[in-house]
This record gives sequence, structure tokens and C-alpha cells, in this order.
Amino acid sequence: MTDETLAGKIALAVRMLTSEGLMDFNGHLSARDPQNPNHILINPRHVSRSVVTAQDIVTVDLRGQPVNGGKEPPSETPLHTAIYRQRADVISVAHIHPQIATAFSIAQIPIEPVFTLGCLFGDGVPVYDKPDLIRTDALGDELAESLGAARAALMRGHGAVVVAENVEACFTACIWFEENAKKLFAARQMSTTVHAFTPAETARVKADLWRPETIRKTWDYYVDKGKRAGVI
Ligand SMILES: [Zn+2]
Repeated sequence: MTDETLAGKIALAVRMLTSEGLMDFNGHLSARDPQNPNHILINPRHVSRSVVTAQDIVTVDLRGQPVNGGKEPPSETPLHTAIYRQRADVISVAHIHPQIATAFSIAQIPIEPVFTLGCLFGDGVPVYDKPDLIRTDALGDELAESLGAARAALMRGHGAVVVAENVEACFTACIWFEENAKKLFAARQMSTTVHAFTPAETARVKADLWRPETIRKTWDYYVDKGKRAGVI
């Protein structure tokens, strides 16, 4: 049975992102505590992403200080807390290391919506230019500034941050982000120009697809897939 607690969902999302290759020995996903929006739940620094459980999840405040003890939070927790401080609309944040999307930050080619699920990123994907790990509030604030009001930002030569309204949506957005990048990458092997969605097309497809049912369908698919393969 799936653990439907917030900590259980965070741990499951991290295990699924790892089995899908979007996280590895690094990467983290966090969410605001619904009882206290100034508290953040996040997977800990030293537990492998492929086996993390609800019991491992730690709670920190908006400056990354642990609340109630527990395991050590990730060294890049400032990346999460800075986004939560600047974006009241954000309930969940993921920091992932997607192979293809990250390559666009290195190639200096913008990510455009070229695939139905890529509609989520139609407002553009900013690139944070510093390759440093985000281990201080100052760097976190810079990254959050680069992200602005966007759904996702690339971190040059490093990875990405993706934000959403809940854990399932954050996981889904991560999957769709890399899927769109894969299609864009494939199309660019065939042609130097690509037929990206127009702003009107993007808005129309997004309104049709970014709904709780579709998010749940994506989440359930990966839960079932991971269980059948015995990897989550
Ligand atoms: Zn990282």
C-alpha cells in the first residue's frame, strides 16, 4: 500500500525520480508542512535516494535549520528555502539532475515547448549561470531570483529546479520537463530549426493537460511501473 502521508509521498517521489534517472546519489524533493508553511519537509543528506523512506524525512525552517532533530538536511537545502521564501505559491520543490535538459544549459540552447507535456514550460526556462552548489542563503536567493515566476530553471552544467503546487505535481512536472527536453534534443538532431508550440498553442494544451486527473494519472503510472519492476 502507498504511504499517503506527506513524508511518505516525498520519499516515494524521490525513489521514483531516482529510478527514472532524474536523480542519482544527489538530488532532493521538498514540500511545505501544511500545518506550518514556514516548515519544509525534505529527504536527508546521507540516505541513498533509491531507498529513502518516510521515517528518514527531515523538517527544517525557512533558513534550513532542523526542527525536532532528525537526520542532517542536504547541503543544498538553501536552494529550497530561498524559493519558498520568495514564492508563496510554491508548495513543493525538486532539485534534479536530468541528463538531457541539463545539456541544453551547456549547449546554450533555450528549452522550448515542442511536445504536449512540455506545455508546462511555455513561459520559458531561465538558466542560472553559476555552476556552484547552492550551499548558502546568498546563492539560494540568486537562484530563486533567476527562477522568478517560472515553473522550472536550469542550473548551468549542474541540473534543474522544478516547482509545483503539491508533491505529485512536482514529480509530474519533473518527468514532463525531461520528456520535453528529450523530444527537443531528438528533433535538433534532424534539423537546426524546430517547430515549437506557439504561445496560444501552449496555453491551450496546458489548460487541457495540467489538471489534477492528469497529474494523478502520471503519478499512478510511475508508482505501478516502479512496483512492477521492484525498483521503488
Ligand atoms: Zn545538485
